[in-house]
Amino acid sequence: MNLFDKDGRLDLSRRLFLRSTGGGLLGSGLGLIGPAFAQGGGGSMPGLPPSRPTGRPFPEMEQETPVEPGRRLGWAVVGLGKFALNQILPSFGESRCSKLVALVSGNRQKAEQVASRYGVDTRDLYDYQTFDRIADNPEVDVVYVILPNALHAEYTVRAFKAGKHVFCEKPMAVTVEECETMISAGREAGRKLMVAYRAQFEPHNVEAIRKVRDGEIGALRLVTSDHGRILDPKDPADQWRMVKSLAGGGSRYDIGIYSLQAARYLTGEEPVEAFGQIANTKDDPRFREVEDRVAFQLRFPSGAVANLSSSYSTASVKRIQAFGEKGSIILDPATEYEGNKLALQTEKGRQEVKVKVKEQSQFAAEMDHFSQSVMNNHDPKTPGEEGLRDILIMQAIYQSACEGRPVSMEATGSTR
Ligand code: NAD
Repeated sequence: MNLFDKDGRLDLSRRLFLRSTGGGLLGSGLGLIGPAFAQGGGGSMPGLPPSRPTGRPFPEMEQETPVEPGRRLGWAVVGLGKFALNQILPSFGESRCSKLVALVSGNRQKAEQVASRYGVDTRDLYDYQTFDRIADNPEVDVVYVILPNALHAEYTVRAFKAGKHVFCEKPMAVTVEECETMISAGREAGRKLMVAYRAQFEPHNVEAIRKVRDGEIGALRLVTSDHGRILDPKDPADQWRMVKSLAGGGSRYDIGIYSLQAARYLTGEEPVEAFGQIANTKDDPRFREVEDRVAFQLRFPSGAVANLSSSYSTASVKRIQAFGEKGSIILDPATEYEGNKLALQTEKGRQEVKVKVKEQSQFAAEMDHFSQSVMNNHDPKTPGEEGLRDILIMQAIYQSACEGRPVSMEATGSTR
């Protein structure tokens, strides 16, 4: 039976025939059109949708569904600077279990403007003096500290005293003692602490770690990573980065931490030895107090080594490479906010690896991870101890550069 007219359309007389017989092309074994379609509704055939509006059972989801607004944890953001305004506040819109409920800023006008944009009540605005009153705000579960590095410890401890959980930007603090104080304040308060190591939630980095662990490049022998950018004295966000008492250090603390983290999360080991060299261009006013370029090497217990760098005076670079016996993994760029790339180099050549990037940003992912850790009483992936380890290693690198010799980590206690 030819069911189509000369132009390839379904012949109406055939359609009428199908309707009158209650049959269909499925019935005839052709599998093209079922009775629901052919009859213009009814859906008498099991498995086919009726033509009337209908409700189906919950489908299999590619995305996790958000928890109800009432069960989301309330976050207060401390510091409304470049990173908070450009990356973090917009990411609450992609979050599944975290909501923005309060803001802390030294500039009331800015705070009010931001509050109206994000639907935060003006009663939930604080400044650095009134911050401790956050203790009386039951809407706030988590305090997110996004201040200059040297202020992280103070606001973390004050947030714990107010009975809140703390999510703190990297670097965790500027001294080992501060990190230890932050960790003990959390323990005393019975509250959780997490350091915002977003790269550990970034899909390309997560996939690179999986490939290394699954042996896709054989035994890991060497990690290289470079993070550099030009420090701009005209940018207010870079001005405190030139002041040691606010930044703690230069490129090492700010972006060298990504190179260091890469070596640690790709090897999955803690270094046993560090060797560092620091270079500043003579008479450059940006580097009167903090260091510019740092080249540093780490040795791990397995024998793997890392060759890492950070710089405040070279064009932008955010690159990580892991070399194994059978190949290498290249992340370039590795730590951008978006648009990172992963490639695998083996004897078969270099191939780009397509990584599924969720609609949720790495910022929303790390915040939700912390909210879930609090809600389910789990340890977060990057707790205070993880931040402390980085500061211990940073200090060892600095000591090594000053003394001109490798420093054993056991001597610094960073393996604890
Ligand atoms: P920024 O200068 O833009 O923001 C700092 C905020 O702190 C500003 O709102 C400023 O007003 C406030 N502030 C309070 N007291 C201050 C003081 N005494 N001096 C200077 N500012 C003061 O800086 P930023 O780039 O947003 O960095 C803030 C923190 O976020 C830093 O710890 C930085 O390492 C971190 N950060 C993380 C990422 C990341 O990708 N995870 C990216 C950028 C910055």
